[in-house]
Amino acid sequence: MALKDFILKYAPVFAQNIGISLYNTYLYKQRHRGRYKAYREYYRRFETAGADEVAREARKRQAEFLQAATQASPWYAPQRGKPLEEFPILEKAQLLAHMDAIRSIEEKDGIVSLTGGTTGASMKVIYAHEDMQERFALKDHFRARYGYRLGKKVAWFSGKSLVRPQDLASGNVSRDDYINKIRFFSTFHISQQNFDAYWRAFCDFKPEYIVGFPSSVYDLCTMALERKLTYEGSVKAFFPTAETVLPKYREIIGQVLGCQVVDQYAASEGAPFILQCPQGSLHIHPLTGVFEVVDENMRPAQEGEILVTAFTTHGTPLIRYRIGDRIKLAPPSFQCACGSCFPVVEHIDGRTSDFIWSPENGKVNLGNISNCTKDVDGIVCFQVTQKQPDTVSIAVVANDQFTAAQQRQFLDAMALRLGKSVAVHLALVDEIPREPSGKFRIVKNLLAPESMRPAAMRGS
Ligand SMILES: [Zn+2]
Repeated sequence: MALKDFILKYAPVFAQNIGISLYNTYLYKQRHRGRYKAYREYYRRFETAGADEVAREARKRQAEFLQAATQASPWYAPQRGKPLEEFPILEKAQLLAHMDAIRSIEEKDGIVSLTGGTTGASMKVIYAHEDMQERFALKDHFRARYGYRLGKKVAWFSGKSLVRPQDLASGNVSRDDYINKIRFFSTFHISQQNFDAYWRAFCDFKPEYIVGFPSSVYDLCTMALERKLTYEGSVKAFFPTAETVLPKYREIIGQVLGCQVVDQYAASEGAPFILQCPQGSLHIHPLTGVFEVVDENMRPAQEGEILVTAFTTHGTPLIRYRIGDRIKLAPPSFQCACGSCFPVVEHIDGRTSDFIWSPENGKVNLGNISNCTKDVDGIVCFQVTQKQPDTVSIAVVANDQFTAAQQRQFLDAMALRLGKSVAVHLALVDEIPREPSGKFRIVKNLLAPESMRPAAMRGS
């Protein structure tokens, strides 16, 4: 057993907090070394640069990155000298199977990042140290626009399992980094039984900022609303990670904690960044990479799946990588009031696999599914699972406002989207477990790809 695991399993909470404080401080030092300061300055400078200067710099970054990748990665060597659009598309399965040919550095010379991946396959990529320093410099630069800096009080809701059964019994639902003023909350145990412990730990701490899974913060806020509790402190901003931010999350979190929800897109495999500006627009950061939006036939489109090329992936170059997310671009004529020339994304749809299949209506995406709760009272959270093309089961955690009439309204909304041929089974449950990664999934599509064909075609 590694020392870290031993401490997490057996040491008293206070000793764990000391360990976490020291370990975190070590991590921050590592990330803030080397080129970190230079990149903070770089991103500060280009924030206000003119469109021509940004375009010139983006072209330069792209050329440098493609050259470096084709020189250092055996996988990309045959593409040397080609323009980006002639590079082959990199599928997830290829990245998994050919990791050793794609990567340009050894594990020991970089930072290993593991990601959950929606298909269950765990993805491992290696970052060069300088790339990690650049990514953290940009993240810190972005958060600094909202007043954040290291040392401000932060409540963190992440997928790390840090609470043991004996801790739950004594109401310990968080761990503290005393040095950097961060309180880490377990996202696995936010429930009606543990609510009081969470709320107390949150209110006592009085965070200025929140980072982490939006569904977890939303759950906590919903339970506070049910109890008619008001939050006395003032949270300046919430920086959500990992999950799609649904309109409902934004509304309830804003209502309970009074803070702005500031969205970002930056997958852990190493995608380029999309960052929300203070005017509320989502801007692609053109100096972090290229987002190609394509339709089903891989032709350029306004809305669709994305192929990403990320300039901060020298360790494991990602070029035209089919990451599995969808976006819709704003019309090119759209000018954001913040004055930035960076392109604007109308919305990020999240995982392309987050949909329910309807033989009548085709793919029904996460946004449409989650809209079924609009004007329905009493639903705390729900999860739709599909194992057969003609059946879905919905687990609902609800309070007593979820009356028979409300249930009917919810099911009608669902039927409207899924069509008449899909049978819907609803079950009221006390709790819906999270994924091993700690993320909450509203939609679980477990269908085999071949069963997702229009009704008329099936059997042919
Ligand atoms: Zn803007």
